[in-house]
Amino acid sequence: MIVLDKTYQKGEHPGVIAIDHGLCKGCDACKRHCPTGAITGMFGAVHSIDITSCINCGQCLVNCPFGAPYELVDPVDDVISKLKDKNITVAGIIAPAVRVAIGEEFGLPAGKLATKKMYGAMRKAGFEILDNNFAADLTIMEEGTEFIQRVRHALFNEESEHGHIGPLPQFTSCCPAWVRFVELYYPALLPNLSTAKSPQQMAGAVAKTYGAMHVWNKAPEKIFTVGIMPCTAKKFEASRPEFNSAYQYLAKEGKAGAGSSYPDVDAVLTTRDLSTVLKKMNIDLAHEKETDGGTLLAEYTGAGTIFGNTGGVMEAALRTAHKVLTGEEMKPLEFKKVRGFKGVKTVSVPLTDKKYGKKVTVNVAVVNGLRGNIKPVLDDVVQGRSPYHFIEVMNCPGGCVNGGGQPIQKNGSSWLEAAMPWFAWK
Ligand code: SF4
Ligand code: SF4
Ligand code: SF4
Repeated sequence: MIVLDKTYQKGEHPGVIAIDHGLCKGCDACKRHCPTGAITGMFGAVHSIDITSCINCGQCLVNCPFGAPYELVDPVDDVISKLKDKNITVAGIIAPAVRVAIGEEFGLPAGKLATKKMYGAMRKAGFEILDNNFAADLTIMEEGTEFIQRVRHALFNEESEHGHIGPLPQFTSCCPAWVRFVELYYPALLPNLSTAKSPQQMAGAVAKTYGAMHVWNKAPEKIFTVGIMPCTAKKFEASRPEFNSAYQYLAKEGKAGAGSSYPDVDAVLTTRDLSTVLKKMNIDLAHEKETDGGTLLAEYTGAGTIFGNTGGVMEAALRTAHKVLTGEEMKPLEFKKVRGFKGVKTVSVPLTDKKYGKKVTVNVAVVNGLRGNIKPVLDDVVQGRSPYHFIEVMNCPGGCVNGGGQPIQKNGSSWLEAAMPWFAWK
């Protein structure tokens, strides 16, 4: 039985992964993928997860050779029943990394981009499409603007209309496993996290406000939002009690509808879960017609698309920062130095802040794979000797493409080891 733990708020899922003791062989493989040491048990004995220190990333689940870890939160049947309810509009919020992985569940080659087939299959199942790339674009405008405000405060003592937002370096905040890691292990650095919500949570709030009013013409309480994510931690994120901002906003406006508060995101399906939903509804994604998304909420830029990879959030933020500070688009637009699977990537970007007529060199770092990589970076920040102004952190090695909710590979994440020698057998 899962016991409510003091590291979870009331209402949150207190852990989303557990280990089936009937299947566990005590082989220890999961331990070398766990970023927090949350897995207990001697070699050869059954293992368990200490939910107090678990950050819900699911890396143990996708890397266990015996299929022993399992998800505690399974919304598949609930989502299917909502899809069949004609009074409800079900908005599927599709994360960038899902579209390159879902095909594998239907026999398409690994890595095949299946965006339009996904749209077709999901619309056939009854989903309305809210592409999370749309919300990733919103996130980056928020996060990029916030970064500029923090830089201008630090360098030029400028106060934004919201006052002083927080110190440098600014950390990205779109990975919920990383956010929980900071809360549990480096709480002194919470002010450094961007105040921007993740794309999933922005999308949920947009669906129940703008989407309800202007796209689907439906009462907000009749919109059922479903995150379609490469990630198990997103199930935890959606359950956080503070993420009911659509309800809070609509209640102030007197438009929240009857009944009690509702969350911005009602349910989260992993890539594996979505394939189960479609299979249960006899929909074969591989043979579905390709369609478009159908609404404005499925439009997006290339910046939103690259969120699924390590370095993508930083690259998108740098484009925004460059445009706002210098008044010109970054050329070339691609920022290849923050791409690739290296665990910690760093780069300095010289810019001129036109408003102040001063040169500014922005030092950025991109960290993927918390295990083995994050501690020295954070310890430098705590000690006040970090050279960085902006740090992107993604829990999973390689970013969300390798998330804990993705299709399970026979060799776990070992395919990454050639590209990431630091990752092998740590
Ligand atoms: S990897 Fe799987 S089988 Fe091995 S100890 Fe972990 S949960 Fe048990
Ligand atoms: S979900 Fe992540 S943090 Fe929790 S036990 Fe598994 S690997 Fe460790
Ligand atoms: S890196 Fe992506 S998939 Fe992994 S925990 Fe973070 S948000 Fe989820």
